[in-house]
Amino acid sequence: MSNQIIIAIDGYSSCGKSTLAKALAKELHFIYVDSGAMYRAVALYFLRNNINLNDHNEVVEALKNIHLNFHSRDYKTHITLNDEDVSSEIRQMPVSERVSSVAAIHEVRMEMVKQQQRMGKIKNIVMDGRDIGTTVFPTATVKIFMTADPKVRAERRYKELLPANPGITLEEVFENLAHRDYQDTTRAESPLRRAEDAIILDNTDLTPDEQLLFALSKVEPFLS
Ligand code: C5P
Repeated sequence: MSNQIIIAIDGYSSCGKSTLAKALAKELHFIYVDSGAMYRAVALYFLRNNINLNDHNEVVEALKNIHLNFHSRDYKTHITLNDEDVSSEIRQMPVSERVSSVAAIHEVRMEMVKQQQRMGKIKNIVMDGRDIGTTVFPTATVKIFMTADPKVRAERRYKELLPANPGITLEEVFENLAHRDYQDTTRAESPLRRAEDAIILDNTDLTPDEQLLFALSKVEPFLS
C-alpha cells in the first residue's frame, strides 16, 4: 500500500486556500498544485481564441490545443499555457469574470480532473480548488474545507488586486466573488460543497500562521 499523502483544500473564492496550501507544501516539502490556475488558464485560452462556450465541438477541439504545466521559480509557482507564462494574466478581471462559466463545462472538467489525478500519483501533494476532496481525490488523506466572512474575503482580494489594477473597486471585487460562489455551488457537475469527512476551517479571525498551525495539527498524525 502506498503511504503517499494527499491534502485536499476546498472552499469559496478568495478565502485563503492558496495561502494555506502553499504554506503547508513549504513546511512539509510537498508539491503544491493550484487547480484554480488550471481552469483560469483554460478560460484565458478560450477568451483569446473566442471559443464559443456553447459549441461542444469547438470546446473539445480547443482543449486538444491546451498544454498546461507548473514550474517553480523564485519560490513561486508559475503556470504555463503552451509554454507561455500566464501566471499574472490569469488573475486579471477578464479571466475572473469568465472562469466559472468555463469551469462548469463538462468536457473542461473531465480534462482537468484527469490531469490533476495524474499529478497526485507521483508525490505527496497539496491541491486546492473546489472539488478536490469530493471528485478529484475522494480518498485524500486530509480534507480541509475553508470558509470566511464574504466581506473579509472581498477586502483581502481587493488589497491583492489593487497594485496591478488601480481602477478596481471593492464593490466590483465583492460582486465577482459572490457571482463565482453562486456559479460554483449551483453548477450541475462537481458543484462546490464540503465533503462529509472534510474539516471546516473558518479563517475570518485567523492569521495565516494560526491557520497553518491548525492544518498542520490535522496532518501530523499521518506523517511517519
Ligand atoms: O481558485 P480560484 O479562485 O483561482 O479558481 C477560479 C475558478 O476556477 C473558480 O471560481 C471555479 O469556478 C473554478 N475552479 C473549479 N474547480 C476547482 C478549482 C477552481 O471549478 N477545483
